Amino acid sequence: MSSSSSVVRCPECGRDNRLPAAAGGVPRCGNCHNALPWTTEAGDGDFAQVVETATVPVLVDFWAEWCAPCRVVTPVLEGLATELAGTIKLVKVNVDRAPRTAERYGVQAVPTLMIMNRGRIVAQRAGAAPGPELRRWVDEALVTA
Ligand SMILES: [Zn+2]
Repeated sequence: MSSSSSVVRCPECGRDNRLPAAAGGVPRCGNCHNALPWTTEAGDGDFAQVVETATVPVLVDFWAEWCAPCRVVTPVLEGLATELAGTIKLVKVNVDRAPRTAERYGVQAVPTLMIMNRGRIVAQRAGAAPGPELRRWVDEALVTA
């Protein structure tokens, strides 16, 4: 499956940048070279390429459209991806469209959050939580990643 791309506005200079779903290293703004928040999606066909081969730690958000807590958590995670631009990559996985990936990782509930580094699960948790708690969880996982 070919990898997708998305457009991200640089928080520093406002320039739109097209980001690939899968790439080595960390994306930077083509204009000011600031590290860009990297939020993308993956499914059964491209999870390995987008997540497991990433060279930065990946925060994986297993979510579903019918899941109310997911609608609370996803914007919090997007905020974290912006705060931690250049440090992590946020990848959203819709479990209804990626059933094989959800099964492979034993996802029983949504949202399930995982931090993966080069294909290895560093931390995992289920359920919604306030932003500061999620930020602490991510910070602690990154120390061991
Ligand atoms: Zn910029």
